[in-house]
Amino acid sequence: MFTLARDRVPENPVTRFAPSVTGWLHLGHVAHAAFVWGIARACGARVVLRLDDHDRGRFRPEYETSILDDLEWLKLEPDDRYGSRYRQGEYGDRYAAELTRLSSCYRTYACECTRAMIGESSPQTGSVGAYSGRCRDRGLARAPGRGVRVVVEPGVEKFTDVLLGELHQDAAGGGDPLLVDRAGNWTYHLSVVADDLHEGVNLVIRGEDLLHATGRQIRLARMLGRTSPPVFLHHQLIQDDPGNKLSKRDGALGVRELRAQGITPEELLGLAVHRVGLTAAPKPLAADELAGLFGPTE
Ligand code: GLU
Repeated sequence: MFTLARDRVPENPVTRFAPSVTGWLHLGHVAHAAFVWGIARACGARVVLRLDDHDRGRFRPEYETSILDDLEWLKLEPDDRYGSRYRQGEYGDRYAAELTRLSSCYRTYACECTRAMIGESSPQTGSVGAYSGRCRDRGLARAPGRGVRVVVEPGVEKFTDVLLGELHQDAAGGGDPLLVDRAGNWTYHLSVVADDLHEGVNLVIRGEDLLHATGRQIRLARMLGRTSPPVFLHHQLIQDDPGNKLSKRDGALGVRELRAQGITPEELLGLAVHRVGLTAAPKPLAADELAGLFGPTE
């Protein structure tokens, strides 16, 4: 049984399910959704659905249709779709306003470095190299083909993860975060931090693969004017055999493929929660039974 430290959960909790619209859902997403809805239902949190489609190069409308259809099929109902506008792609004005605000209070600068040049990988793919600050003092003009970064001063951010306890990270450990990428996309860091702030999300439930980004995002949130950061809960991931996390390339464990083979929603939820270590056996489980995995609360 999984024990949720209730005293670490904020008052009137609001959490979100925020899949990136860059691929089809797979078993790992279902396990993540089980954490989000299960914990939300166990502690009375509202679930906001947000489609993280800020990466316009990798977005495809058929991914969005499929994600929404899979959630409905699994009977995982959000409490709030943030009106009918729940796509990051519709919030360019918000990110532009935040960039203007950041630029007036902090130092932002144009950056022409490519990922390959600086050895920095995507914040969402796991291993992350720090940005060296190469363009910080070069005085480059903002121009197409150049990104925008903001200077983050070194300093430790302390936070209490609901599952992992007291943690601290150097907010500048990853270097100055990119706010706009070289293709002109709003970045992951800027969009999730701005959206969580504006949507009143105060409980961020996400996989341990994003833990490295948390100190940096807490700092960025403060720089955007957030007075108290969201509470974070980083959960374990489904591992494939050699101990790697599942990826979108694992087609065999794709929700579409499993549905085509005739799996039921309850069997899929049962398999996902088992593979992520929440249950001892892959027993079918209905969406409205997920809360039972996260109680009793302390
Ligand atoms: N859209 C992100 C993802 O699917 C989650 C956002 C976050 O929690 O940072 O990886």
